[in-house]
Amino acid sequence: MKKPTREEHYERCGRKRRYRTEADALQAAGLLGLESERTAYACDLCGRWHLASVNPGRGRAPTVRKRT
Ligand SMILES: [Zn+2]
Repeated sequence: MKKPTREEHYERCGRKRRYRTEADALQAAGLLGLESERTAYACDLCGRWHLASVNPGRGRAPTVRKRT
């Protein structure tokens, strides 16, 4: 695996908030009301946890809201 450039490092890690544990990260998402839209992942650059947006259409099917 190639080393990330400084910019990639910043995008993937540096600009993100770090959490000590997965639970911390998910709790922070919950406080923002975003627990269903964020997922926590362990960062291989800093060894901490970050939050990422859940990408609908990949993996689990998103909940479809009917328009009235
Ligand atoms: Zn990181």
